[in-house]
Amino acid sequence: MDLVTPATPTRHLLDLSFDDLETLFSEWGEPRYRARQVAHWSLKRGAVSFEQMSDLPAPLRERLATEFTLAAPAVLATTTADDGSTVKALLDLGGGVAVETVRMDYDADAPHERERSTVCVSTQAGCAMGCVFCATGQQGFTRNLTPAEILAQVLHFTRSGRVTNVVFMGMGEPLANTAATIAAVRWLVHPDGLDMRARGITVSTVGLRAGIRRLAAERVQVGLTISLHAPNDELRRRLIPTAGGTSVDDLVEAAREYISANGRRVTFAYALLDGVNDSEEQARELAARLRGLQAHVNLIPYNPTAGAGLRRPSRERVRAFQRALQGEGINATVRVERGVEIAAACGQLRTDYARRELLTLV
Ligand code: SAH
Ligand code: SF4
Repeated sequence: MDLVTPATPTRHLLDLSFDDLETLFSEWGEPRYRARQVAHWSLKRGAVSFEQMSDLPAPLRERLATEFTLAAPAVLATTTADDGSTVKALLDLGGGVAVETVRMDYDADAPHERERSTVCVSTQAGCAMGCVFCATGQQGFTRNLTPAEILAQVLHFTRSGRVTNVVFMGMGEPLANTAATIAAVRWLVHPDGLDMRARGITVSTVGLRAGIRRLAAERVQVGLTISLHAPNDELRRRLIPTAGGTSVDDLVEAAREYISANGRRVTFAYALLDGVNDSEEQARELAARLRGLQAHVNLIPYNPTAGAGLRRPSRERVRAFQRALQGEGINATVRVERGVEIAAACGQLRTDYARRELLTLV
């Protein structure tokens, strides 16, 4: 008699790529189309167990279940704002690690605009980059997320509706976890996966050159946002203490390479901090660095977090900075803020959650 209870498999199926699935089924002597079937169930239909895969032979479902899991993370908290068009969920990844994901729905308010539903995903629990204005950066780094954990955040929302866009702008630095980021992107765009348009996906990076090069080389064709935040290296290093080896010029060059390799526009994100990086003179300095580049600047008025001594500039200062860039021929927009009531700026839910728990404990 076998007294050993089989342990629950911890290997998540979505940590495998589509090619891995094909190899697996060929090794198991299964027909080739099994990879497509299983992918379809796991991504498009959002299955959380192999039991659900009704068109698969029972022995195959059982074999899959002994080796893999498809479980979705438990939801620890959900918050909504903007009349329900912004939803934020805190997902439990086990071992005391929780990660947040946000869905933002945009109406097609202009005739040429399509209705969009954008999910903002995290790629790490915490972040090691330490940006002084970022709640995640101030929490420090816990660990990288796996491809399955990144995908789980999108699947959390696709199970209840359509998702058209995914932005890698949640907690963590995607290009400090490049392999998992690229693996997740491949499933998002795979025709047998979520079948999304690469144009609808944006990876935002603090500016890690090796990662940008790899993203360009892999030709995943996603949009790239480089977080610049300063027109010169001296100020940039004060805001991003880990930016050491990378200069603004390096990043402008990386953007140029990405544009020529992918034919995609690059966006520079610029968090505006009152009296720190938001003067018109700094706007002109920035414009000079970006001239000749097919780039776009996205201004993000600072979202007050735990950051000591930092303030959000007034509306007038934000507008003046934007106009100064535009006056120099640089395309600049101000990021539409969503879910301000629930502090939907990425990187804040976990902090709030921790604080709330603390309050109930006291
Ligand atoms: N690590 C990546 C992606 C996650 S942060 C990156 O830094 O690009 C997503 C964006 O939010 C970045 O542009 C980041 O600079 C910005 N951000 C973080 N905290 C912010 C805050 N408190 N106010 C405004 N923007 C912030
Ligand atoms: Fe990390 Fe991005 Fe926050 Fe900087 S802004 S600490 S890179 S998550």
